[in-house]
Amino acid sequence: MIPYGRQDISQADIDAVVEVLKGDFLTQGPWVEKFEKSIADYCGVKYAVAVASATAALHIVYAALGMKPGKLVWTVPNTFVATANAALYCGADIDFVDISPTHLVMCPVALKKKLEEAKAKGRLPDLVVPVQFSGACANMQAIRKLADEYGFKIVEDAAHCIGASYNGKKVGSCEFSDAAVFSFHPVKIITTGEGGLVATNDEDVYKALMRLRTHGITRDEKQMTHNEGGWYFEQLDLGYHYRITDMQCALGVSQMTRLDPFVKRRNELAARYNTKLHNLAVKPIEVSNDSHSSWHLYVVMLDKKYDRRKVYDTMRAKGVGVNVHYIPVHLHPYYAQFGFKKGDFPVSEEYYDRALTLPLYSGLTEQEQDHVCQSLAESLSEDNEAR
Ligand SMILES: *Cc1c(COP(=O)(O)O)cnc(C)c1O
Repeated sequence: MIPYGRQDISQADIDAVVEVLKGDFLTQGPWVEKFEKSIADYCGVKYAVAVASATAALHIVYAALGMKPGKLVWTVPNTFVATANAALYCGADIDFVDISPTHLVMCPVALKKKLEEAKAKGRLPDLVVPVQFSGACANMQAIRKLADEYGFKIVEDAAHCIGASYNGKKVGSCEFSDAAVFSFHPVKIITTGEGGLVATNDEDVYKALMRLRTHGITRDEKQMTHNEGGWYFEQLDLGYHYRITDMQCALGVSQMTRLDPFVKRRNELAARYNTKLHNLAVKPIEVSNDSHSSWHLYVVMLDKKYDRRKVYDTMRAKGVGVNVHYIPVHLHPYYAQFGFKKGDFPVSEEYYDRALTLPLYSGLTEQEQDHVCQSLAESLSEDNEAR
């Protein structure tokens, strides 16, 4: 089966991890900081804090920005559940803003309309989380303007987006946001096995993140009430054990040296899909002009006449590991308790009914890609004939 995404591991990556295994520190050694610095330098951001997963990163950055019971977080339904769950971990309330039908990211028009309604009802969001879907960004300039007008914070869920650019700057520069979160799960652009990172230019957020990832503890004398000696530390918040290991970060540093070639190859393969699928009744995701996508996902929307479930099953039977991103978060049974129901976010729901993710990763060969395209053409015509 050709998977929809997979890691790209070189001998240099393997050697980097083995070197750590032979050394003194498996965790909390020098590689965590080296990895953070390589990403901060790459993105052009002041601070980078690496943690055990992007889910952990979302949780502690929401907390660092003050999310707690009584606060309200808005994100989009077209995301992985973690983006919304992290708000619930903080005890905050969650709501959603619908996506734009072409770029599949937070729609600034829908956001503005919802903000006006929220203002009239007297409950504005404290934090808005655009999800930079598939590797391309929402209209961050428009969302920033609304943030300044309505007074909310912005975290970008950029799990798909390391190596991407927006408005001529790397995603993670946080030009228009308070923080951005990356994921290093093996299907993402670079990997540490499991892992995530928060990028931010805000020193207070940075200090809070450094405490929250390790039990709320600090050894920084400037943050402590007093000092009792070399062993002494203080717990200032109720933090978590969300640390990442040196083994993972050595892999991450090695992977970072190939980030640009990975993104370049994903762009070439996406352009090749666009050409090859030109004659089929499918609509590929469109990237906005101000984004240079990292192409984490290659998503097509099937024409309404097709049965997506059948096409999915036929393609899997042909050895193509297609997938669907995403089941709208508000439609998961867990979210029904908050009053969400079908019809609440129609653009996300209609998109979901037609969406199919085709395999895309740097190691995908052109022969494999040709097989994917051939299989899609066959699956669509088989579905057509069945009617
Ligand atoms: C993968 C992903 C996450 C979660 O990442 P983990 O590192 O697996 O915790 C969160 N949000 C989005 C949009 C993702 O794609």
